[in-house]
Amino acid sequence: MAGPPSLPAFAAIVVAAGAGARVGGDTPKQYRNWRGKPLVRHSVEALIDAGASPLVVMIAEGAEQDARAALDRCGPLRFETGGVTRQASVRAGLEALARDPPKRVLIHDAARPDLSRAVIERLLEALTAHPGAIPVLPVVDSLAVTDTGDTMSDGAERERLRRVQTPQAFRYHAILAAHRAWHGEATAGDDAQVLHAHGGEIALVDGDERLKKITFAEDFMRTNDYPATRIGQGFDVHRLVRGEELWLCGVKLDYEFGLAGHSDADVALHAVTDAILGAIGAGDIGTHFPPNDAQWGGARSGQFLEHAVLLARKAGYEIANIDLTLICEAPRIGPHRDAMRAAVAKLAQIDEDAISIKATTTEGLGFAGRGEGIAAQAIAMLQVRR
Ligand code: MG
Repeated sequence: MAGPPSLPAFAAIVVAAGAGARVGGDTPKQYRNWRGKPLVRHSVEALIDAGASPLVVMIAEGAEQDARAALDRCGPLRFETGGVTRQASVRAGLEALARDPPKRVLIHDAARPDLSRAVIERLLEALTAHPGAIPVLPVVDSLAVTDTGDTMSDGAERERLRRVQTPQAFRYHAILAAHRAWHGEATAGDDAQVLHAHGGEIALVDGDERLKKITFAEDFMRTNDYPATRIGQGFDVHRLVRGEELWLCGVKLDYEFGLAGHSDADVALHAVTDAILGAIGAGDIGTHFPPNDAQWGGARSGQFLEHAVLLARKAGYEIANIDLTLICEAPRIGPHRDAMRAAVAKLAQIDEDAISIKATTTEGLGFAGRGEGIAAQAIAMLQVRR
């Protein structure tokens, strides 16, 4: 079977040097999974499939390990350290190609993963007649210009405007010379502006709506790897003994017995913590706070819950609601319910009406019925942070 027609030879620079802080979470967005693989890998694979050689990936200082892991066995790649700005990163990438200069180069942002071969073909075709070519889309909404930020200064003719995407394609020597000549204090919006300022004509080719930039957590949410909601459950039991304090949901109750355990033995908070850890697949409370570790002796369990909430946030989630059931014959929970809801809401950083605290007895049956211990079970629903 014949493959697709071969394209003219071209090099590529993929800019993946940003911190990607707008998506949320600690891992830069270009290394996070989107539709089953790291975001940057989609672009790199599309360019390699189309024949890009060499392909230079511009990465942030210290990101080589993340980048190599994300692009493992993609094909022959070169990693170069980018600059402080996107423009500086592109310049560094162009200079890295100077020793063995290619005829053509495509410059692409890692955050635009859905790159079709058709777009690459249109760009390379346009380079036969122009030193630069960019994919563009029409503007469909009407536009307002503002100088103040809150009132309209002017309208704009959308017919004359286009939305610009990447990759942007250039004859290599033309774009290198334009970048070297760019001495303005101002940062150029993109490479087409750099070449245009240097007198190079830029051809416009049809872009692709699917080539949109992945920017916010919501974009990640729309994938199987990053479901909009996750759910977890937790269960815990502690023994009731004399001579211990009784802590439930971070509230100290007056009672002749207390719960025994390594920490303050707050069985309710342990169940809630495990529910949140379960929702994000992050092990259980013992994984994070080993009971044989002396530093957690007598520890307030609220900090366990706060840590689980922090891990959930790092994973891109916030708590939607928590439903907790305490199982004991005594003491009575009802009189303390409001205080408990308030305490859990504060620890989980959500509204009290998203916290449910219920209590049941076991009709005198089993360990709870005999007053030997208290059990707690909890369910936590998490939703993608907005
Ligand atoms: Mg426990």
